[in-house]
Amino acid sequence: MHRRQFILQGSMAALATGLDLSAVALNSQGRIFTVNGPIEPSQMGMTLVHEHVMVDFAGANVSTGKAYNPDEVFDIALPYLNEIKNAGCKTFIDCTPSLLGRDVRILQRLSNATGLNIITNTGFYGAASEKFLPDSIKKMTAKEVAAAWIKESQSGIDGTNIRPGFMKLGLDGLPFTESIEKIINAAAFTYKATGLTIGIHTGKGGEPALKELEILEKNGVPPKKWIWIHAQNETDLTYHIQLAKRGAWISFDGISSKNVDEYITRLKKMKSENLLHRVLVSQDAGWYNVGQEKGGKFRNYMDFFTHFLPALRKDGFTDLDIKTLTERNPAEAFRVS
Ligand SMILES: [Zn+2]
Repeated sequence: MHRRQFILQGSMAALATGLDLSAVALNSQGRIFTVNGPIEPSQMGMTLVHEHVMVDFAGANVSTGKAYNPDEVFDIALPYLNEIKNAGCKTFIDCTPSLLGRDVRILQRLSNATGLNIITNTGFYGAASEKFLPDSIKKMTAKEVAAAWIKESQSGIDGTNIRPGFMKLGLDGLPFTESIEKIINAAAFTYKATGLTIGIHTGKGGEPALKELEILEKNGVPPKKWIWIHAQNETDLTYHIQLAKRGAWISFDGISSKNVDEYITRLKKMKSENLLHRVLVSQDAGWYNVGQEKGGKFRNYMDFFTHFLPALRKDGFTDLDIKTLTERNPAEAFRVS
């Protein structure tokens, strides 16, 4: 659908429901960076914002010597991606960070084979007790860490010309260690140099999320450039409401056929607060698990289409609400100005 048509339809539906227009119109400025280069935000379409093609849990400082066969990973992931393409998905955001199994060449092959836009990331994952942070980080300054991420953003990842579309960081909870403070500060430096949005996997709830945003804002990052990843780990929605009101992105990204009702309850609350335009939804599904026979058990990406979207409709979410959650919000959140 053309952007103008999208805005027009959004506007008409917004008038009909009395919604604030600014909450639904798609901003046409900026670019989305996919593994095949930049696209217009309006080209993103239906987007899964947090999924994985491959994960390698060996740890950052263990040499796995590429303990996987890229052709095998490609062959195994391909049908799952074709399945969502056929269900109407246009863009797939791969949240596997560097040192945890990110392989941008495989992502590019899958994008070419399926026609899906695929987006990858830069950054470091400090959750899981920092097992995926390189030892070298202890001797680096935040600016030096940022320099490596900025280089990926400007010149490409792992010797390719594939650029990241956002930053993915990870942390467990409070108190933040020196290394965690360092990667958050590095993300702020990188944002100022590149405009990339910062997604932070937050293992333990609302308090660390508040602290993340406090550090980022102190360093010049506006809330709208920060995504609270795994916000479902916090059950007290007062955190989500206050952070969304400040302009942050709230990512409820563990949807499966088994927990759809919990997600609908959260989304109803966010909708009642007029905050649906700050919410992202996805499944954290997949993936080829390096080290397991044929990648182990791959969780497909279809529950979103077979269970979640029908449940939204059944529970009174309008077409405009669904478009806001699955198209407009991802385009806004990942837009690089
Ligand atoms: Zn994930």
